[in-house]
Amino acid sequence: AKGDGGNKYQFYANSMSLDALDSLRMEGALRRALERDEFRLYYQPQVDIATGAVIGVEALLRWQPQLGPMIAPDDFIPLAEQTGLIVPIGDWVLATACAQQKSWRDAGLPPLTVSVNLSARQFQHRDLVGLVARLVRDTGCDASSLALEITETAVMENPQAAVAIFRQLSKMGVRLAIDDFGTGYSSLAYLKRFPIDSLKIDRSFVRDITDDTDDAAIVHSVIALAHSMKLKVVAEGVEDARQLQFLREHGCDQMQGYYISKPVPPAGIESLLQNR
Ligand code: C2E
Ligand code: CA
Ligand code: CA
Ligand code: CA
Repeated sequence: AKGDGGNKYQFYANSMSLDALDSLRMEGALRRALERDEFRLYYQPQVDIATGAVIGVEALLRWQPQLGPMIAPDDFIPLAEQTGLIVPIGDWVLATACAQQKSWRDAGLPPLTVSVNLSARQFQHRDLVGLVARLVRDTGCDASSLALEITETAVMENPQAAVAIFRQLSKMGVRLAIDDFGTGYSSLAYLKRFPIDSLKIDRSFVRDITDDTDDAAIVHSVIALAHSMKLKVVAEGVEDARQLQFLREHGCDQMQGYYISKPVPPAGIESLLQNR
């Protein structure tokens, strides 16, 4: 949106970088988006590799402005994180995902674990455990069918705090997954201290799994080590049958990716389950 403000912004542009100005405008737009209820959750199915059953979904945030095309999270979450707006946005995501899980259960759909992405800011901000407990109570969703995904990098910002929060969430029955595994600097030995249920292998490793021997070796050893620690392994970004074949042969537990389905609105999950 650089330059579309015309001369009106000349005064500011002199004292502030254009990027800062863009950020300010964007921050205002994000605030209004929350007030106007412009956020949506899409859901991507997660499949049990051994049985082919859809056993869960990952909730992925979208911004649908009243006018214009839908906006992907990579285009607004970084700013939402910087400004702290990710906290109220994240509260909305959690509440919406919990309500969705309850409504699918009431509709008689097979039980689905709904996974929600958490940012580091939501972790540090305040009483995440209290918030989740309240949401589970208020929406009537099933805590053990709720999974929280947090990136390896976010965990490593403050591992002590993360361990404490994870312990409390885990006591409530909430499932915990380390997201984008392999892109950060933690070691599996270190993660042993965390009461987590699964690791999600980042898409960047899955992409070339059938051509790149290094990526193949990484995925292979992550699966073996994770299993030795009784963790489930979920592969993200599976796009074709050969990748799936590799993962199956190496005992990966679950997968998600365009090969099965892109993220879709809730109704898309319902028809996917009815047609399987
Ligand atoms: P992520 O958690 O690693 O999510 C996986 C991303 O990969 C999603 O992008 C998904 O649409 C995409 N993806 C899934 N399968 C495939 C595939 O087969 N091929 C390709 N090329 N891509 C695939 P999306 O929805 O654009 O989300 C991007 C990132 O934004 C997420 O990465 C996550 O870090 C963040 N995000 C999304 N929703 C939320 C949210 O509610 N809260 C927070 N804090 N972050 C979120
Ligand atoms: Ca994720
Ligand atoms: Ca990822
Ligand atoms: Ca990510």
